Amino acid sequence: MAKTLCKLVKDDYLKDNLKEYIKLVKEPKYICKRCGRVAEKEEMLCKPKKME
Ligand SMILES: [Zn+2]
Repeated sequence: MAKTLCKLVKDDYLKDNLKEYIKLVKEPKYICKRCGRVAEKEEMLCKPKKME
């Protein structure tokens, strides 16, 4: 995935890809320190921080 979730969501990604998005975030391991978004993989976030 070239773009981060942070960026995708701003570009109306959720409107057409909600199911895919849910798969990406349902077991989050990282949180974005800038946006508060969560994801399973750190490369999906712009400022990832591992959640303990
Ligand atoms: Zn972010």
